[in-house]
Amino acid sequence: MLIDFHTHTTASDGALSPAVLVQRARAKGIRLLAITDHDTVAGYQLAAADYTPTADEMRLLSGVEFSCVWSGVTVHVVGLGMDCQHPDFAAGLARLAVAREERAQVIAERLAKLGFAGSLEGALAEAGESQLGRPHFAAWMVAQGHVKSMSAAFDRYLGQGKPGDVKAFWPELVEVVAWIVAAGGVAILAHPLKYQLTRSKLRRLVADFKAADGAGLEILNGRQTQEQSRQLRLLAVEFGLEVSGGSDFHHDTAWGAELGVELHHLGGLSGVWRRWLPSEGCAAGEPL
Ligand code: MN
Ligand code: MN
Ligand code: MN
Repeated sequence: MLIDFHTHTTASDGALSPAVLVQRARAKGIRLLAITDHDTVAGYQLAAADYTPTADEMRLLSGVEFSCVWSGVTVHVVGLGMDCQHPDFAAGLARLAVAREERAQVIAERLAKLGFAGSLEGALAEAGESQLGRPHFAAWMVAQGHVKSMSAAFDRYLGQGKPGDVKAFWPELVEVVAWIVAAGGVAILAHPLKYQLTRSKLRRLVADFKAADGAGLEILNGRQTQEQSRQLRLLAVEFGLEVSGGSDFHHDTAWGAELGVELHHLGGLSGVWRRWLPSEGCAAGEPL
């Protein structure tokens, strides 16, 4: 059985519109799909508005991928199954929208100091209806001929440790988990190995995440090695967390993952999907 609990649309930095993503997921035979755009549920809401599945068709879950700060590190938390109208959750999303605007202004000021004027207007034009982010600055830099490629823009100006890596405005990890939980959702620590933490710091992150009411670890994200999956599985078991997985699909690439994750690749552990697919795998709360 295929599920996918981590996908992006044009509402954030994905290439496919929400409707096209839903269509593709259905064509692939995915049973349960969450749209988890960065800091917005606009893509999910658009898709849900014109998707009314019958009982045996794919189910669509509300989702989001929040950026937040833990111990000075930017980490991502995926929320699934929230009531998007819940006041705490809606206020959280509104705060993130302001944070993104403020961050974009700082990025633009820093790029201007490096001689790249007009990047805010350029990035906004690139973003269109989408949530403004660093990829839009990168796309503008490519379009202006400042760099040859998106990856060069990140390597030199926008990536981790570079001038465009502005993280001061994100909320704290405990806050975003609280918004998700208040709205009846499930909080999942996204791609725990991507933060490049030492082993002990990663274990502290996971412990703090659990203490904050986090429910699950994303043990499968896009393409990863068996060793990475093994490490994450052990971490989930050690901390008694449920497991989740998703493609983190943004667009078609030679190296990225296609939509859909086989449930048996996550098998043997207690999965967050049991909330929506009670007959699959072992139940939430059962011993691991
Ligand atoms: Mn992204
Ligand atoms: Mn992420
Ligand atoms: Mn993602």
